[in-house]
Amino acid sequence: MAKLEPGVVWGDQYQTLLRACKEGAYALPAVNIVGTNSLNAVMEAAAKNKSDIIIQLSNGGAQFFAGKGMEDSHKAKVLGAVSAAQHVHLLAKEYGIAVVLHTDHANKKLVPWIDDLITYGEQYFKDHGYPLFTSHMIDLSEETIEDNLETSARILKRMVPLGMSIEIELGVTGGEEDGVGSDEIDNDKLYTQPEEVLQAYEVLAPIGHFSLAASFGNVHGVYKPGNVELRPEILKNSQELVASTKGLGHNPLDLVFHGGSGSEKDKIAESLNYGVFKMNIDTDTQFAFAHAIGEYVEANADAFKHQIHPETGEPHKKQYDPRVWLRKGEEAMIERLNEAFIDLRSAGKTLVG
Ligand SMILES: [Zn+2]
Repeated sequence: MAKLEPGVVWGDQYQTLLRACKEGAYALPAVNIVGTNSLNAVMEAAAKNKSDIIIQLSNGGAQFFAGKGMEDSHKAKVLGAVSAAQHVHLLAKEYGIAVVLHTDHANKKLVPWIDDLITYGEQYFKDHGYPLFTSHMIDLSEETIEDNLETSARILKRMVPLGMSIEIELGVTGGEEDGVGSDEIDNDKLYTQPEEVLQAYEVLAPIGHFSLAASFGNVHGVYKPGNVELRPEILKNSQELVASTKGLGHNPLDLVFHGGSGSEKDKIAESLNYGVFKMNIDTDTQFAFAHAIGEYVEANADAFKHQIHPETGEPHKKQYDPRVWLRKGEEAMIERLNEAFIDLRSAGKTLVG
């Protein structure tokens, strides 16, 4: 198996990683982060599990990374993503893991966010000889497929000289993620048509590397089950249509599983056979982080009300020190990710070493 250097992967190294995932029928968790606590927890979890990892920021996560108080929220979304990326470039090597750095859903009104990130990335590439991010996502699944592919093609053309890839989305994934998403949609729109996947391949493959989030009944976030049925065979049919029409080998597409939180484990496992190399996880890790801190606060309630115990006079500093309870959140996030590495079968499969 081809080996990778630890650090942020891009270009050929990224594609080496994708190939290993698809050939080995495993996928990498793509974890949304919002600050150094979640970011470091993800790197720690990947290192402990000897898995490579995808770290991504939504626009809201990027804004939060720069600080909610920054007046210019657009600028915060750009600079927050840049700042987080620099943190990963500096530290991923030390954790000894290969990291794919990515930005999550950008719908039509967020296209300027991506364009500005690429402008930043162009300067970064000039200075360093490698890109700031491995890939960006453009989610124009709510637009017509023509508009979706036209804009995605334009963005991909900007990224190819930087050795970057694009992720696009076809079909509507239900639910809501970071304010991006839809609540009321036709049921049949929840399933991407293989013909549309072929159309995307024909537009984008000649330009550069792309990955594709196809809807197969998946839902962003965690909702009551029962509304839609996960149908991984849609992924299989899409792979087969593109392979047979274009004369390509097995599983030619690099597919992405959105809305993985709360999905049935057997459907996750099945999708790994159909070229899925990435599964987004956000809602479940958010809950793990919050749940552990909630338990800690409950167990140490007094320390969160009084700096010094009102009767004994004992200082509570050891309990309310943010490092103590933020660490509880990090540890719980790592524990939830341990489960994801097993579900996605990526534990022990790092290409670094
Ligand atoms: Zn999506």
